[in-house]
Amino acid sequence: MFKPSFSALAYLALFGTISLASCSKEQQVQPDQPEQVAQDQAELAYPGQTGEAKAGEWGGQPVSYQEINGDKVYEGDILLTSEQLTSGSDGDQQRPGSAGRTTGRWPSGIVYYTIDAALPNQARVTDAIAHWQANSPVRFIARTTQTAYVTFRVGSGCSSNIGRTGSRQYINLASGCSTGNTIHEIGHAVGLFHEQTRNDRDTFVNILTQNIQSGYEGNFTKYSASGYGGTDYGALDFGSIMMYGSFSFSSNGQPTITKKDGSTFNIQRTGLSAGDKSGIDAMY
Ligand SMILES: [Zn+2]
Repeated sequence: MFKPSFSALAYLALFGTISLASCSKEQQVQPDQPEQVAQDQAELAYPGQTGEAKAGEWGGQPVSYQEINGDKVYEGDILLTSEQLTSGSDGDQQRPGSAGRTTGRWPSGIVYYTIDAALPNQARVTDAIAHWQANSPVRFIARTTQTAYVTFRVGSGCSSNIGRTGSRQYINLASGCSTGNTIHEIGHAVGLFHEQTRNDRDTFVNILTQNIQSGYEGNFTKYSASGYGGTDYGALDFGSIMMYGSFSFSSNGQPTITKKDGSTFNIQRTGLSAGDKSGIDAMY
């Protein structure tokens, strides 16, 4: 149930921690061991590919994204729909930081879903769903005739639409996407963004722009800089399953994000953190 005393974006930012887990592994990054740095990758819709940088509008607000293979990719693994990017078309319903964002949530916290028969290792999906149901009020019901539902299917990377789009939407899972990555992608589908977009993130982290891979700088833009309003909720949660790791999107093996004291932190793709759970409780 939506509680209008909190801004939607706050929830989105809270849960939308940066997920830099590589699709291939559950990260337990040891930053001192360079061979493991490569594991500290966020989920990506198209690993190894960058597309044409585009600027559009989302709910009347400017948004930067990349167009890759016809998809509109935002923050690496979020797929925006054409409807979301159509200026003036239902904008209030899709606008982060406005109460209208509630339409991006699933009524009564019920997510209808199907699993494409061609998807290998479907236990990733069923295990991720079981984790969500054990740790949040969100419920998952096999779709029958509903028009709005999530289909889990094979993808080139790990990716998801953001929030309930109102029609069929997808969570795309390459073979390397783990159960943890799937939990993260479900987070996007229920309306969570990445944590690094919080307005108050500079209170908690340093962003080392010089170490970010070319083409991924936009993944580190605060939502206020993108024109969004909103209120941050809770403290930035380094343990969130939606949070990037220190070396996510690094171009040179040096950290892209550190704590304020300069120390690095690991990426977490095991399950919803305590902070994730409290935020989702407030959201749903
Ligand atoms: Zn993500």
